[in-house]
Amino acid sequence: MKCTVPDCGAPALKDDPDGRCFWHSEDREVIERRREASSRGGCNSKKVMNPQTSEDLNLALLKDVDELVSRTLRATITGDLSVTVAKATGYLARSLTMIRETALLEARIAALEERIDKMGGM
Ligand SMILES: [Zn+2]
Repeated sequence: MKCTVPDCGAPALKDDPDGRCFWHSEDREVIERRREASSRGGCNSKKVMNPQTSEDLNLALLKDVDELVSRTLRATITGDLSVTVAKATGYLARSLTMIRETALLEARIAALEERIDKMGGM
């Protein structure tokens, strides 16, 4: 099952009443876990905050990953962002996109296999 938020594509949480993923669930417990996860990340990582980073972006959405890469590109060109950070951002954005594409293909293959099984196998 996929998250019911349009364009999300992340797997839905099993118990979520609205069929949403970890990033979009409005379940109070999940919101709390999400908050803990992001504050943990904030404590462990050295404070690296750029105005062009992802604070306002939900990276579960492909369009937001696209926006992040665009901002990174612009900031790198203007010299507001180090090439090292830009390279890492580009690499990770590409990894994220590939993971999503693989997950999507796996889901499509599973759906096809299920249909074939229902037709009596091959
Ligand atoms: Zn979602």
